[in-house]
Amino acid sequence: MSEQANPFESLQEQIDDAAEYIDASDDVLERLKHPERVLETNLSVEMDDGSIEVFKAFRSQFNGDRGPYKGGIRYHPGVSRDEVKALSGWMVYKTAVVDIPYGGGKGGIVIDPNEYSEAELERITRSFATELRPFIGEDRDIPAPDVNTGQREMNWIKDTYETLENTTAPGVITGKALDSGGSEGRVEATGRSTMLTAREAFDYLDKEMADATVAVQGYGNAGWIAAKLLENLGAKIVAVSDSSGAVYNVEGLHARDVKGHKNETGSVVGYAGADEEFGNDDLLTLDVDLLVPAALENAIDGDLAREVQADVIVEAANGPLTPEADDVLTELGVHVFPDILANAGGVTVSYFEWVQNRQRFHWSEDRVNDELEGVIVDAFEDLTSAYEEHDLPNFRTAAYVVSLQRVIDAYTESGNWP
Ligand code: NAD
Repeated sequence: MSEQANPFESLQEQIDDAAEYIDASDDVLERLKHPERVLETNLSVEMDDGSIEVFKAFRSQFNGDRGPYKGGIRYHPGVSRDEVKALSGWMVYKTAVVDIPYGGGKGGIVIDPNEYSEAELERITRSFATELRPFIGEDRDIPAPDVNTGQREMNWIKDTYETLENTTAPGVITGKALDSGGSEGRVEATGRSTMLTAREAFDYLDKEMADATVAVQGYGNAGWIAAKLLENLGAKIVAVSDSSGAVYNVEGLHARDVKGHKNETGSVVGYAGADEEFGNDDLLTLDVDLLVPAALENAIDGDLAREVQADVIVEAANGPLTPEADDVLTELGVHVFPDILANAGGVTVSYFEWVQNRQRFHWSEDRVNDELEGVIVDAFEDLTSAYEEHDLPNFRTAAYVVSLQRVIDAYTESGNWP
């Protein structure tokens, strides 16, 4: 994993790369390369033993020209101002590439949640929600789950917001539990868009998904669901990893059994159906048909990219390749299908959840999955059309060309407000 790559600089480079193919003025581009605002706050929270601990937290609102800011909240010791800025920028391009009416935002708390009790995490979350309250709202900024947060935290944020505002506003946050206004299909949505992107990519490249070998880095929400759904298509999941290491079986692992083992023991390591175990970086250089990075950003840098043997990479994680890795993989002819499309299922079903909340109407899981499939397939077609039409070097540039053009159009059509 690269220590040097700054995710915010990576985002800006990706925008510059795409801008080469677009008729956009420098001043518009400069505006679209920086967040509109970033909230930085210090939460003072009482611990179970009566002591007070201070936690740094951020919320970046990158661009709202196409709709309310939208993006997750992560709890991780590595959260930083630059990281949330970058992640909020990627959300702008992600919502634009799938053409849903949102801008981009992202937030996080610098914390290792494993070190705190549930009661402490609730107080920390409610404290953050109190700080966020003036900045968020159903038509303003709509947070969602991300690394180490889920329905529990979203429900706490919704409850804090609604209590302080003396209202009901389930659409202020997405990724809620079903009984609190959540959507069917939300939990599986990110992994589902990864599977759909891989399916469309294999079809586009004339490759067979049946018996295709797949390695998945990261076996959390996004990675494990992608593995399960790819296995349903007939692919062979030969390797998966988490922060403790990787497991491998050339004949294929059973995605559900590995998940069961991880639920019981806390890790994929030690899974009885594996015939080999190795370090998590080694998984990234396996000779497989499809590699799915589904952990954290910058997992593959330029040096590691030279050793990649996969034919196709579909990014479930946000920003798993450094720009150097991207260049190397383009040179090596590895087809990379980018995060802003391949993990856009999460934000797309978040959008469906928000639509249902606004309409006070609940969709069936089949309807959610069908609508999601339509969005991802349409976006994939837009991306490959741009790739062919502009003779672009890779599919990431194509995704940025499509989405940057949409954001530029919305920004310039709005005119300038001094
Ligand atoms: P998660 O916390 O559920 O899972 C992350 C997994 O990655 C865990 O299994 C963890 O052990 C593993 N991991 C961490 N470091 C690793 C390493 N060095 N090598 C191998 N594995 C490692 O998180 P998630 O929700 O699945 O998110 C994963 C990625 O997908 C993130 O980049 C996130 O931003 C992105 N994403 C998630 C969603 C969503 O709805 N969950 C939506 C869009 C994007």
